[in-house]
Amino acid sequence: MIQVFLSLGSNKGDRLIQLKKSVEHIQHYAGNLITISDIFESKSWAYEDTDYLNAVIKIQSNLSPEELLSETQKIEKELGRSSKTNTKNGKPVYSSRIIDIDILFYGNKIINSEHLTIPHPLLHLRRFVLQPMIQIAPDFIHPVFNETIETLYIRCEDENSVKLFKKVHAENFRLP
Ligand code: ADP
Ligand code: MG
Repeated sequence: MIQVFLSLGSNKGDRLIQLKKSVEHIQHYAGNLITISDIFESKSWAYEDTDYLNAVIKIQSNLSPEELLSETQKIEKELGRSSKTNTKNGKPVYSSRIIDIDILFYGNKIINSEHLTIPHPLLHLRRFVLQPMIQIAPDFIHPVFNETIETLYIRCEDENSVKLFKKVHAENFRLP
């Protein structure tokens, strides 16, 4: 069993329901829910769009990193995410989505393959990831930077606002 941190984001439709459904699906297909952060609202990062709801969860999984990515991508599809992030002139073109599930950490493994970069390469630059993550794992050490989440949070220069949207009780998200 490996401890995995996932970041969840939604800025389309009923954002809260999408987050909740994604946590349910993750428990069915990817692993047991250990902890969930509160839900935060953040301005769309890097492109103009409606605001996101974000959360970070910790799960325990038996899946390999590749299997986990494949499951989270299936869940994104199942919940109705249509568009992938495309690139134009080598730069990402972001688009709104019903649900985006990113793998932040897979234990303390470091992976750099064609389809998978773990730890997630942008997490330390994103307040909407660090703010929920610091709630549930301030002392977790980023295996590439060898710094705690708390230190990365203090150093993060992202000025986009991230506000508490809803307090969460993990019990309300855990499947029976
Ligand atoms: P983004 O999350 O950057 O908005 P997407 O969700 O469309 O964009 O993901 C684009 C690609 O990122 C996926 O097809 C996947 O192969 C790749 N990827 C690389 N590393 C990760 C990771 N740690 N978690 C999730 N996807 C990843
Ligand atoms: Mg993604």
